[in-house]
Amino acid sequence: MYHQAVFDEPIILDLKGRRTIKIPLENQKFRVDIPEMMKRGSAGIGDREEFSVIRHYVKLSEMNFGTDSGFYPLGSCTMKYNPKINDEIAVLEGFRMIHPLQDSNDVQGALKLLYELAESLKIITGMDEMTLQPLAGAGGEFAGLSIVRAYFECTKQLDTRREVVVPDSAHGSNPASSHMAGFDVVQIPSAPDGTVDIEKFKEAVTEKTAAFMITNPNTLGIFEDKILEMANYAHSKGALLYYDGANLNGIMTKTTPAKMGFDIVHLNLHKTFSTPHGGGGPGAGPVGVVEKLKDFLPYPMITFDGDRYHDDYVPPKTIGKVASFFGNFGVLVRAWTYIKMMGEEGLRDACETAVLNSNYMRKKVQEFMSVPGKTLKKHEFVASSVGASMPKAGDIAKHLIDNGVHAPTIYFPLIVPEALMVEPTESATKAEMDLFIETVRQTLKLPHETFEKEPVNLKVTRIDDVDASKNPRPTLRMLRKEHKEPLQQVI
Ligand SMILES: *Cc1c(COP(=O)(O)O)cnc(C)c1O
Repeated sequence: MYHQAVFDEPIILDLKGRRTIKIPLENQKFRVDIPEMMKRGSAGIGDREEFSVIRHYVKLSEMNFGTDSGFYPLGSCTMKYNPKINDEIAVLEGFRMIHPLQDSNDVQGALKLLYELAESLKIITGMDEMTLQPLAGAGGEFAGLSIVRAYFECTKQLDTRREVVVPDSAHGSNPASSHMAGFDVVQIPSAPDGTVDIEKFKEAVTEKTAAFMITNPNTLGIFEDKILEMANYAHSKGALLYYDGANLNGIMTKTTPAKMGFDIVHLNLHKTFSTPHGGGGPGAGPVGVVEKLKDFLPYPMITFDGDRYHDDYVPPKTIGKVASFFGNFGVLVRAWTYIKMMGEEGLRDACETAVLNSNYMRKKVQEFMSVPGKTLKKHEFVASSVGASMPKAGDIAKHLIDNGVHAPTIYFPLIVPEALMVEPTESATKAEMDLFIETVRQTLKLPHETFEKEPVNLKVTRIDDVDASKNPRPTLRMLRKEHKEPLQQVI
């Protein structure tokens, strides 16, 4: 029987206990003279002593589920194990204690690392140049589409090329970032086999198209085998091709977006390259481009003159900055470590194992649930719990997590009803996958009343989904205002 740790932990502001003492400034070894204008009276985070604060956060972490807790098959999110060596390297003093405004001569090692990481990612994607600056996948998309925009502005076609063509199986961030970059979104439907409907694609891609944006393997885990035909067609209409490479697990070392004809790629280091993610960051969404687009990349770029590294190159037609300095440096160190530790052989092994695991699970799950689209999958697959006797995807998910098995992604992609999107990654063991499969198999046999109150073994039990989405109160201030009383009594 599984029980998540459940504590009645107040928010940190309401923690009771001893207060910290303030060490008079004169006694401090490293006295810092903060300018008057920048001083705050209080940081507003309470004043409890260290051990209360540590216990508070340890308790919160125990009420959580992460890749360090167990199998985490969250499709499209690639929740693979994050090796601890990544953290050890990232906290080395030479990396941890440097400042982005330091003279480049003093931080040659850090610049070398960033340069090498970009070089590795260029090989992995086949792109000609790479920026590490964007802080997330969606941030990479926005940077990439801003490059599309700048390119057509520069070639004086922006007035007529207003559209980005996106399949209906796309991640929601694709149409969102296209829109944010100022384009109109044209959605194309999928064929019954789960790949892009090529006839509809040809109707949609015209001289008005700025870019065709797609992820391959797509969100059903299926490799778009007509990708070269699509790429040639889109190029023949003068459009650019954007590859959403958030999840490269299913193809890395086997092929590259460049070989598939793409001009722009973003990667999620916090998925494929084993850096931490979830809870809003920190992430990293590097963007690679082909030769003709490299002058548009964000600045500054790191260059190497054969002897020293420089951090001040400004590409002549740059779109500007999309984040400060070089992005999330600590995350980039972790990805560099992972790639160095794995080498080409290790990355190939990760890719093959991820695909093998996914197909092992797909084959077993198919015995009791439908798995739409072509049979052979890459790194993930989508099952559907549609049918009168089946519990809803949301109920299955809640039942799983109540039993210590992390739920897959549900209700995505939108083209599959009652979708359960499973991605084991290369980290999963056979025992973990078998436990997941068996738990799902048993769940489907339960009477529907079972699910009404679940989950019961977690700190957060069944929430009112409709109220949560129609009437969200995401901040403490909003909650307090609504209840006109201290938060403690509210939760
Ligand atoms: C996760 C994901 C994104 C967005 O990445 P974030 O880092 O969450 O912004 C985009 N596309 C696909 C296919 C994804 O799986």
